[in-house]
Amino acid sequence: MVIFLINQEIYYKNNVKFVKSEEYNYIFNMENGFFARWGKNKRDDPEYSPFGPEILDIEVSTICSGSCPWCYKSNTTNGKNMSFETFKLIFDKFPKNLIQIAFGIGDLDANQDLWKMFEYCQKNQVVPNITINGYKINEKWAKRLAKYCGAVAVSHYNDEYCFNAVELLINVGIKQVNIHKLVTKETLKGCYDLIDKTKNDVRLSSLNAIILLSLKQKGRGKDFHAISQVEFSDLVQYALNQKISIGFDSCSAKKFLKIIQNNEKKKFLEMMIESCESNCFSQYINVEGIAYPCSFLEGELMYEGIDVIKVNNFIDDIWFNEKIKRFRKKLIRNKRICPVFKI
Ligand code: SF4
Ligand code: SF4
Repeated sequence: MVIFLINQEIYYKNNVKFVKSEEYNYIFNMENGFFARWGKNKRDDPEYSPFGPEILDIEVSTICSGSCPWCYKSNTTNGKNMSFETFKLIFDKFPKNLIQIAFGIGDLDANQDLWKMFEYCQKNQVVPNITINGYKINEKWAKRLAKYCGAVAVSHYNDEYCFNAVELLINVGIKQVNIHKLVTKETLKGCYDLIDKTKNDVRLSSLNAIILLSLKQKGRGKDFHAISQVEFSDLVQYALNQKISIGFDSCSAKKFLKIIQNNEKKKFLEMMIESCESNCFSQYINVEGIAYPCSFLEGELMYEGIDVIKVNNFIDDIWFNEKIKRFRKKLIRNKRICPVFKI
């Protein structure tokens, strides 16, 4: 199938999506997740996508029984779901530049429309990914995730729930299963323990990577504390010494870039790092259908959201909305380092 938009050509070949234009291009392999983006030529790195986001981060439920003391969303069992109808309405407004949707959910069984949403993504050649809390998962749910998702991450709150969920997801055939671990002063010892356990626990032998997430002091996470650069460097070095694969959220890019300054593979590693991409290549939408640059900026006084359900044209009314343009400019000027939180 070939779709022509103004100055943009999109086509699919053997499960690979190509976007071509004069100043912004990408190739995305929908099967293995390989992605490469370039600008006017292969050496040029575009500052943002002129055709809308590549990634949508969407919250489809805030119902969660996890009660984590650091939950930045302050989620409880008393939450809300997004309906399939609302999801479809939002999805249909998105430009065809979209390649992946990161689904935000608390308990996996909270929103019964989740599977219909996944199906709709698949039908429209967009890959769904999800992060789960590991509670309430069973073989039936795991097989369903395997049917639709490119990657599944399990947040680490409790060894048993997390490791059993990882093992189950790998056993049903999901190739990319990660563990998400929040790094704070208060959870630092747990991060080291997790690295040790990943080395020794047979349930984690085929784990793809531990993804280290930086703290944003928000919601119930307000009283937690970010680790220093030295503590971060020591943790990363420890994981590398133990030969454990690690990754980072894009909010941590600044800290990681500092570590690799004297690394002989610096150029290559820099190429693999994507700093904050909010409103440059990604968009966040909350359970009510309100758009913010990222999930952490929801409720922050200076970032008023935009109701996606009410807008007519995503590109004009959201992607090139004055508020979004201002945020994007500020982020780019700040070298795509978080302009809001001290990370
Ligand atoms: S951090 Fe995740 S698992 Fe914990 S309460 Fe919040 S949404 Fe639930
Ligand atoms: S704006 Fe800040 S908190 Fe949000 S994704 Fe970017 S770096 Fe992270």
